[in-house]
Amino acid sequence: MLEIKNIQKSFKDHMVLDGLDIKIEKGDVVVLIGPSGSGKTTLLRCINLLERADGGTITFNDMTADFNHMAKKETAALRKKTGFVFQNYNLFNNKTALENVALGLIHGRKMSAAEAREIAKNALDKVGLQEKYDFYPSQLSGGQQQRVGIARAFALNPYVILFDEPTSALDPELISEVLSIMKQLAQEGTTMLIVTHEMSFAQEVANHVIFMDQGKIVEQGKPEDIFLRPKEERTRQFLRRIN
Ligand code: ADP
Repeated sequence: MLEIKNIQKSFKDHMVLDGLDIKIEKGDVVVLIGPSGSGKTTLLRCINLLERADGGTITFNDMTADFNHMAKKETAALRKKTGFVFQNYNLFNNKTALENVALGLIHGRKMSAAEAREIAKNALDKVGLQEKYDFYPSQLSGGQQQRVGIARAFALNPYVILFDEPTSALDPELISEVLSIMKQLAQEGTTMLIVTHEMSFAQEVANHVIFMDQGKIVEQGKPEDIFLRPKEERTRQFLRRIN
C-alpha cells in the first residue's frame, strides 16, 4: 500500500498542492484528471521525489517518511518504489532502446550488465519492441519511444508506475498503441497512477478516478460515478469543457 497524507507544495508563494491525501493499493489503476495548472504533474513528481514537497507524509507498507525532512537513505529507498513515464519520453538519444532500459537496472539496482540486458529484453518484448532492441530513439516513432519509456519503468519492478500524460506529445494515430500497452499492463495487475486527458481510456481502465483543481481533490470515486454522475459543479464544468 502507498499512502500520501496532507502533501503540500508551493513554488514561491504559489500554493500548487494544498494538502492532498491519496491511497493506492496493489493492483489499483488510479487516473488523475483536472484542468491544466491544477498540480497533477507536480503531485507525481513529488511522489517520485523528483521534486521535494514542503510537507506531508508518504507511507509504503510499514515505512513512513516526512517529505520535508527525509534522510538520504529514505529518499533512495522510496525512489525505488515508483517508476516514472514522462510526457516527452526522456530517453537518452545516444543510447539504444535496450541500453535505455538497462541503464537504470545497472545504476539504480546494481545489476550486472548481463542480468540487466536480460530483464531489459523481457520488458521490451512486453511492449512489443522485440525487433527494436538496437534502435536509437531517432530511429523510432514517438509511440515506440514512449513504449521504451514504459518498458524502462516496468523493468525496475516498482510498486507503482506513475504516468505523466504519456500520450500528450504523440500524433493522434500513435496514441492508441501506447494506450493499449497501458491497458494490457493494467489487466495484468500492474499498479498505476496515471495523469491523462484520454477520458474514454480512463473510463475503461481505471478503477478509481480523482478530479483535482487548484491543488486540491474536488471529487473522487469509481469512473462511472465521476464521468456519468459527478456530484460537484466544478467536475461537471471540467468534463463539459473537454468533451
Ligand atoms: P498540471 O500538471 O495539472 O497542468 P502542474 O503541476 O504542471 O499542473 O503545475 C501546477 C502549477 O505549478 C502551475 O501554475 C505551474 O505553473 C506551477 N509550476 C510547476 N512547476 C513549477 C516550477 N518548477 N516552478 C514554478 N512554478 C511551477
